Formats: sequence, structure tokens, C-alpha cells
Amino acid sequence: ALEIRNLHKSYGDLEVLKGISLTARDGDVISILGSSGSGKSTFLRCLNLLENPNDGEIHFAGEQLKLKRGKGGALVAADSKQINRFRSEMGFVFQNFNLWPHMSVLDNIIEAPRRVLGQSKAEATEVAEALLAKVGIADKRHAFPNQLSGGQQQRAAIARTLAMQPKVILFDEPTSALDPEMVQEVLNVIRALADEGRTMLLVTHEMSFARQVSSEIVFLHQGRVEEQGTPDQVFDNPTSERCKQFMSSHR
Ligand code: ATP
Ligand code: MG
Repeated sequence: ALEIRNLHKSYGDLEVLKGISLTARDGDVISILGSSGSGKSTFLRCLNLLENPNDGEIHFAGEQLKLKRGKGGALVAADSKQINRFRSEMGFVFQNFNLWPHMSVLDNIIEAPRRVLGQSKAEATEVAEALLAKVGIADKRHAFPNQLSGGQQQRAAIARTLAMQPKVILFDEPTSALDPEMVQEVLNVIRALADEGRTMLLVTHEMSFARQVSSEIVFLHQGRVEEQGTPDQVFDNPTSERCKQFMSSHR
């Protein structure tokens, strides 16, 4: 479903991604682990050009993303219709929820389906209410984001992402801004999505969760894939010394 080849990204002289390749087939749940600064967020953000990579290829749902060299030397979208379609089909769930503060939960969810997918208000509302029920906050549909707990906000953000019917969902540390007692309710929602067979890339520091839900673990170190394999391989028998150290310090 999603294939990345030889992705490079630098900020000035700092080379953050040094040639990353990764393939997510339909239904794969790939967790990306690595210490702070290893390039995990940069990698996810390059996939839908929230950041512009300097080199590499992105293939998604049978299409290669058309890129051209921009002014600063980085690659930018060459076809604005195509990148907009890629973005709407690649859901992104952020650490800090990023709900629109001036809109109710329901309005947060129906906005993009109406505007981008052309759904009627009635249709989008029906879908949104089903999604809110699915993530367990149907009673909060008329609340504003600041009236919700962090866990509820993140579940609303996941519902908003699902409303766009994404083919793949990218999660960047979806629970790391939450109070500990709210982590589980969000992980349970993500686990349910994994059980449905959704294709997901997940950056997380929740090791035991990653081990349980992932089909594959990718360990990044200084902008390179340092170790990659099934959860059992990577957690129990890592070959790289860095990965061993990381695993033993995150038990
Ligand atoms: P964390 O676990 O702390 O979220 P990460 O693995 O997600 O870390 P990135 O955020 O991808 O790491 O950052 C990788 C490197 O790129 C870091 O050295 C960071 O300082 C640098 N970096 C990230 N964004 C920028 C930017 N906009 N400008 C300059 N440097 C950046
Ligand atoms: Mg990060």
C-alpha cells in the first residue's frame, strides 16, 4: 500500500534521514522506534510532504508521488491534485491532537469530509456520529476541544482522521502528551483499528503495545534503519548493539 525508497532529508547541514526504505503492505501495522532525534517524526512528515525530502521515492496505492526539485534543493510536489489526494488518503494523528479549538467535536469531524470528499452535512454527520460512538465519546459531540480530557481529544482526533476514509494512518506518538491514566483508552482505540486490518505506521514509546499490535518493528538510529523485523525478532534477538541498548533501557 505504501512504499518508501531511499528517503533523505537534511535541515541545512544536518542530515536527519540518510536513506530510509520501508514497505507497508495492506493490513501491516509498522511501529517505528528510536531515541529522541533519530528522525522518526521527520520520516512520517516527509511521507505526505509536511516536510520536503531531499531525495527518495514515495509510492502509495499503486501511484508514485510526483516530485520536482524546489528552490532550496528539496523535493516538492509536482502535481498539486495528486498530493492533495495523497494527503486526504493518508491520515495523520499528531501528539498534540490538533483539533480546531473554535469548533465542536462534531464540526471538527465533518469539516474535511464535507469540503474535500463533498459529503452532505447529513451524510457527514451520520458517519461522524458512528465514529464517535466507535471511539467511545458519542456524548461529547457538541463539546468543544477544551472541554475534553486529553484522551477524549485524541480519540476525537482519531475519529476525525477516520472520517476521511484513509488508506493508511500515520501516528506520531499519539499517547505521549497524555496523562498516564488516559494512555490506555487511546491505545485501545488504536488496537481496535489494528484488529480491523487497517494499515498503520506508528511512532511510539509504548514498547509492550508496539510489540502486541505490530506486524513489523523498525528501529531508527541517526536517520537510518538500524534494525527491522517481527516484534519477536527485534525485541528478543536484536542484532544491532544500539537496538539492544535501546530495548534494554525501555523495558
Ligand atoms: P522525538 O522522539 O524527540 O520526537 P524524533 O525521532 O521524532 O525525536 P525528529 O523530530 O525527526 O526526531 O528530529 C530529528 C532531528 O532533526 C533532530 O536532530 C532535530 O533537532 C532535527 N530537526 C527536526 N525538525 C527540524 C527543523 N524544522 N529544523 C531543523 N532541525 C530539525
Ligand atoms: Mg518525534
